[in-house]
Amino acid sequence: MSAYVAIGESAPGDQVPESIDGVNPFGAQGEWLRCALHTHSTVSDGTLAPEHLVLAYEEQGFDVVAITDHWRLAQVPSTQRVLTIPAAELGWDIEHPHYPRQSAEFLVYGIDHIPDDPGGDRANWYTNPAENYEVRTFPDLTAGVSWAQTMGAVVYVAHPYWTQLPLDDLLTQQGFAGIEVFNGSCHEETGRGDSSVWWDALLASGRRAFGIGTDDQHYPLFELGTGWTMVRAAERSQEAVLDALRDGMAYFSHGPEIHHIEVVEGAVEVACSSARSVLLQSEEELGLAITVGRGGRRQGKILSTDSSGLITSVRFDLSFAPSRYRRVTVVDANGRRAWSNPL
Ligand SMILES: [Zn+2]
Repeated sequence: MSAYVAIGESAPGDQVPESIDGVNPFGAQGEWLRCALHTHSTVSDGTLAPEHLVLAYEEQGFDVVAITDHWRLAQVPSTQRVLTIPAAELGWDIEHPHYPRQSAEFLVYGIDHIPDDPGGDRANWYTNPAENYEVRTFPDLTAGVSWAQTMGAVVYVAHPYWTQLPLDDLLTQQGFAGIEVFNGSCHEETGRGDSSVWWDALLASGRRAFGIGTDDQHYPLFELGTGWTMVRAAERSQEAVLDALRDGMAYFSHGPEIHHIEVVEGAVEVACSSARSVLLQSEEELGLAITVGRGGRRQGKILSTDSSGLITSVRFDLSFAPSRYRRVTVVDANGRRAWSNPL
C-alpha cells in the first residue's frame, strides 16, 4: 500500500503492461456541460412529469438532461437552456444470478425507440404496477449494445456496486463505453453508490472504459443533483454530447470541481476546487497521494492552497512503474469526490 515500484525496478518476470489510450478533456475545444444522465420521471417510477423534471434541473444549473425511465422512452423537448437527450434504463440477463438478482441494468443515450422484444429470458421480465415500472431483458449486455449501436446510441453500465454485478458478467461483455462509477441515489440510500472498484477491475484488465456520475433521481427533494457528469462537448448539441460520452470527454463528481489537468513531460498537474486530498490512481499499489491535514501523505508537490490550507493545485512526478492507466480523484473536506477519466 505504501511503497510504489520505482521506474526500472520491476520484479523478474514482470511484463510491462500496455497502457490504455487515455483522454484529456481539459485541453479540448468546446464547452463544459453539466449533465444529468440517470433520472426518472412519471413515465416510469419517478415523481415529476418529464417537463417539470427538466425545469427542476434547469433551476439547479444543469445544461443537459437524459431522462432514463425503465423500458419507456420519455419524450420531452429541449428548453432554451437545457438540451434533452432521449434515453432509457434497460437490462440484460446476467450469467451468474444471485439473490435477488437475475438481471442487471444499463443506461443508453441517443435512442429513438424501446424494443418490444429484446430477446432475453422472459422468466426475468416483470411489471410493477404499484411503482409504475417494468423490466425486460436482452440476453446479454453485448446484445443490448449491438441494438443501441444501430442508432448510434452510447451505453454505460448502471450502478454495478448496487447491483453487486458479478465481475465476470462485466468483463465478458463488449462494446459499452463505460460504467456509472458514481450513483447519488445508491450512495444516499444504501452507501453503495461508488462503483470505482468495478471500474478499476475493467481498467486493470486492459479495457478502455470511462465513467459517469449521476443522481438516479426518483424523488427530487431527496436526490436531485447528488451526482453529475461534466461533459466537454464540441458544441451544445445531442450529437456532440453523445460523441463526448462515447470518447470519455468528461469528468464526474458529487462535490468538488476539477478545473484543469495537464499531462506534462513526466508529470501530471491538477487544479481543483478546495480539496483535502488529490490522488493519482492506477492498478494495485501504483499511484500517488497528496493529502493535507493529519496523517496526510505528500507524494508530490502542492502548488497552491486556499486560505484555510486546502489544496487547489498539485503536481505529481510520475515516479512509479509503467502502468495500464492513470486517473485522478479529488476528495474535498467532506469526503465528496470528483473523478477524471483515465489520462
Ligand atoms: Zn435508475
